[in-house]
Amino acid sequence: MKRGLLISAITLLAFGACEQSVERVSDDDGHFVIVTTTGMISDAVRMIVGDSATVETLMGPGVDPHLYKATKGDVERLDNADLILYNGLHLEGKMQDVFTQMNAVTPVVAVGDAVPEERRLASATYAGKYDPHIWFDLSRWRLAVVAMSEAIATADPQRSTYYYENTNRYLDSLDALHEWVRGEIATIPEAQRVLVTAHDAFGYFGDAYDIEVRGLQGISTVAEVGLQDVTNMVDFLVERGVKAVFVETSISPKAVEAVVTDARDKGHEVTVGGELYSDALGAPGTSTGSLLGAMRANVTAIVTALR
Ligand SMILES: [Zn+2]
Repeated sequence: MKRGLLISAITLLAFGACEQSVERVSDDDGHFVIVTTTGMISDAVRMIVGDSATVETLMGPGVDPHLYKATKGDVERLDNADLILYNGLHLEGKMQDVFTQMNAVTPVVAVGDAVPEERRLASATYAGKYDPHIWFDLSRWRLAVVAMSEAIATADPQRSTYYYENTNRYLDSLDALHEWVRGEIATIPEAQRVLVTAHDAFGYFGDAYDIEVRGLQGISTVAEVGLQDVTNMVDFLVERGVKAVFVETSISPKAVEAVVTDARDKGHEVTVGGELYSDALGAPGTSTGSLLGAMRANVTAIVTALR
């Protein structure tokens, strides 16, 4: 089902040239290809499509989506897609132009748009924009999953019944895990319920599961961590008696480690409570290669370190 267009034309478009005419090449081979940006989206899409489509992810384990720029290879993969799904809400901040160009020839859906405005959290980093990390509240993420299933069923209507059945099963597991997370976080004594991470990825998590969250960096990782950020965080840890902070798999641990060292210098013992999956999942095929697995691992680390 591949809908091709000349790679050279789209490459030029993606890398800054404009006014290129896009030529379509018809080579429909009947195979349904879905390309996504993040592991969280691919994970849900695989649950929806089973073996009936090829799912490709542009950003692998440990990759930071805020900083990610499309490579030439990515543009080729997007060009080969029948459907492109991305998070949106400015998560893939450096890829928007590519999606806009691609949308001229292929359905491109920002799944985060399914979260209604009144349920979005504001971004402290970007005025007028929203926090994009919606997968950390499974009750919001399920809206994005429903949007994925609708986009998939629209692009491949012959199998829509199958897709919707799979979606409902997956939503049941999301709902069950949502309740589990809520119960686990509630076991942390209220005064100790403070989650300090490398960047502000856990706003929705905090909102949904009743834990205060602080990120050393803002909603996006584009801005550098400054000395003042480290000092402010150390003061916060001392003041609140926070005993553990967390690094993230997709972000350099250096800034968090500086906080731990500086806090110790001030006589406040704080440990690194573990490495959380924030903007990327673990390796495919491992227990943290799925959103549910990564979520379980995160919550177990958080509860163990803070309780
Ligand atoms: Zn992030």
